[in-house]
Amino acid sequence: MIDHGLDDDHPKSIHCRTAARCLQQYLDSELRDEVLVEAISYHLELCRDCGMEAETYSRIKVAIASEGKAFDSETMVRLNRFLDELL
Ligand SMILES: [Zn+2]
Repeated sequence: MIDHGLDDDHPKSIHCRTAARCLQQYLDSELRDEVLVEAISYHLELCRDCGMEAETYSRIKVAIASEGKAFDSETMVRLNRFLDELL
């Protein structure tokens, strides 16, 4: 297995582990590796698990961005579940 998770035969094919590791940077548009950005974007479309994780993270970001607005309980449950899965 190649270290960075990219497969030479399938350049856009990456592991969930790789996608998860780079997901935060990807969603924050801080990922500078264009090949990896494209690979993750492709992976998120195909992989339901990672797609949902990306969606959850995006919602957390929006919630955090809107300061002064308290988390509703549903968001907190989702957030806790999300963090549990990361650990
Ligand atoms: Zn995945």
